[in-house]
Amino acid sequence: MASHVVGYPRMGPNRELKFALESFWDGKSSAEDLQKVAAELRSSTWKQMADAGIKYIPSNTFSYYDQVIDTTAMLGAVPPRYNWNGGEIGFHVYFSMARGNASVPAMEMTKWFDTNYHFIVPELGPDVKFSYASHKAVTEYKEAKALGIDTVPVLIGPVSYLLLSKPAKGVEKTFSLLSSLGKILPIYREVIAELKEAGATWIQFDEPTLVMDLESYELEAFTEAYAELESSLSGLNVLVETYFADVPAEAFKVLTSLKGVTGFGFDLVRGAQTLELIKIGFPAGKYLFAGVVDGRNIWANDLAASLSILEALISVVGKDKLVVSTSCSLMHTSVDLVNETKLDKEMKSWLAFAAQKIVEVDALAKALSGQKDQAFFSANAAAQASRKCSPRVTNEAVQKAAADLMGSDHRRLTNVSARLDAQQKKLDLPVLPTTTLGSFPQTIELRRVRREYKAKKITEDEYTNAIKEEIRKVVKLQEELDIDVLVHGEPERNDMVEYFGEQLSGFVFTVNGWVQSYGSRCVKPPIIFGDVSRPSPMTVSWSATAQTMTARPMKGMLTGPVTILNWSFARNDQPRFETCYQIALAIKDEVEDLEKAGINVIQIDEAALREGLPLRKSEQAFYLDWAVHSFRITNCSVQDTTQIHTHMCYSNFNDIIHSIIDMDADVISIENSRSDEKLLSVFREGVKYGAGIGPGVYDIHSPRIPSTEEIADRVSKMLAVLETKILWVNPDCGLKTRKYSEVKPALKNMVAAAKLLRTQL
Ligand code: GLN
Ligand code: ZN
Repeated sequence: MASHVVGYPRMGPNRELKFALESFWDGKSSAEDLQKVAAELRSSTWKQMADAGIKYIPSNTFSYYDQVIDTTAMLGAVPPRYNWNGGEIGFHVYFSMARGNASVPAMEMTKWFDTNYHFIVPELGPDVKFSYASHKAVTEYKEAKALGIDTVPVLIGPVSYLLLSKPAKGVEKTFSLLSSLGKILPIYREVIAELKEAGATWIQFDEPTLVMDLESYELEAFTEAYAELESSLSGLNVLVETYFADVPAEAFKVLTSLKGVTGFGFDLVRGAQTLELIKIGFPAGKYLFAGVVDGRNIWANDLAASLSILEALISVVGKDKLVVSTSCSLMHTSVDLVNETKLDKEMKSWLAFAAQKIVEVDALAKALSGQKDQAFFSANAAAQASRKCSPRVTNEAVQKAAADLMGSDHRRLTNVSARLDAQQKKLDLPVLPTTTLGSFPQTIELRRVRREYKAKKITEDEYTNAIKEEIRKVVKLQEELDIDVLVHGEPERNDMVEYFGEQLSGFVFTVNGWVQSYGSRCVKPPIIFGDVSRPSPMTVSWSATAQTMTARPMKGMLTGPVTILNWSFARNDQPRFETCYQIALAIKDEVEDLEKAGINVIQIDEAALREGLPLRKSEQAFYLDWAVHSFRITNCSVQDTTQIHTHMCYSNFNDIIHSIIDMDADVISIENSRSDEKLLSVFREGVKYGAGIGPGVYDIHSPRIPSTEEIADRVSKMLAVLETKILWVNPDCGLKTRKYSEVKPALKNMVAAAKLLRTQL
């Protein structure tokens, strides 16, 4: 019985790659220094898997930025604006595409399926001249071989690569991405030939787009591509790997009939239905790579449960054709539990990061071949049992309260236009009211204060005073700028999810559980392990204090339940919606306390609502239903005069606009400035919309300071589509990553633009 790993984190256990990359980008170290760190990481990862007993060890899953841009480099698909003159692509062109350079901005980045990982989107058009321009896959294969480790080189499959691309500027409407298939296959053939020559016996093509809702012409492209590659692939074992969801029945048929392919990999954690397809229609004589160890979370595998799935599969494919695997690349989980010094023993026994997951894969494979490590399995069973019945996990009252939510809709009693009238009477705001979205610049000094407080180097009083002083500054600045609805600036928060997670029960935090988000960036998601409740108010004293400093309305600032859920590692022992409802109830308590403390405007951020959207259309309605319901639960009980805002960090919600409206917030602020007014087109098409709306009037992700005219022009365009009385004027997102030298003039111009337009109404 063999074992396989789809892919492995590349950052290193202590984010070595991040630091090496950033130091290289800053000009503080050489290309050789960077390459040395990278080679050490690759070699230690391969050795670790070899030591764990993994048979099929992946190579070419390392990347200096991301695996999609690596494929773009392999194919020489460099957009002309980067002035590449052919030859092997080096760091300069590669990082220019990924990050931009002094004269050309970076290529677009987008989310990798429904993960929090982002890739650089290939730009294709009729003029792209493909050529074999990065030999990385072969070099890495040889590098491992020189270390005595025979690996499975991993490539993004040709069809998924094309389907994940976008047409270049100017040919958006006319260019068919799949029309490049005939041009890229010859390069794939060259790569395959070199890999064979170097001694590879297996090759893995990742074709994760097979889990999406594909059209039949897209499915046909798979058949065509692998038929084309068949002769090149002969003599090699070929694995086509899928992940992140069920493979739909139609796609399953296409996939398992591909020419030249000897093995198929499936995510059996998210793909319970695929399991059924395998049982009735898996082709005889082929290898089944069964992804039973979850690459998307940090929980220890339930080995006994996995074992019984695997045993059932043996009867389908036979013992020698079953390979135990991970559900997807382990790059979406944290690296090594060994580095967690602050988690207690019991908590650690419930967890497995990438390093532990490869051990689980191997243990399962061994158990199936009759070499079960009894001690390992017993310890695992004991941990599973303790997690099931631990009083740390279960809170009966919370379970009951969440269960009681079902069946009811949780809507505010009055409709939104009547509420807006009642709120206007109380708040007395000018037309085109101005506001910001929460955070103000986070200075080094602020970070130091928070760090020292956490480390108990300063007293609670000293900390509170420092934060209060910061709030006072932020309030004063906003009054000077003449902003209408103020914020306290969030100086007490390091992160909009962590801040709440730290104060809620049911959460734990790692010290080193980083997961790559894009390039050198990593996030450290909290772990939701138990029933969630709010022991005491979390933001009320800061918001109430801030309100005492001004006569203008002060917005309370909360993170919504869906965003807290989507940016955490969620528990896998109950459905996600149950966890979300529990968080919703905790946030509801906070909303009610804020209202009692005299806060009349409360913003509940749902920055990540869209991120949880399932990949398959058939599952989206259910998700949107409970996600939107969770949001409503948080604020359904407030008075008409309390104004509920929400904020979203994306603008591509043309497809989910009805759910956004169904959230029934009084005011929604949304990212808008980077999206060529995609958003306004929804309203132009006549979507009925009565709530307040604040499409961001300038991009806070850039240091550029927008002029008054430019902002006024943007707002005028919005006024042409939206009713004057519902429009708000605000930036795109929070200001925490900006400097005061940027924020002050930008906000000054924003307020001036609003005032200018008011005189013209
Ligand atoms: N209130 C948050 C802030 O201003 C919102 C951030 C976000 O949407 N990502 O920082
Ligand atoms: Zn935002």
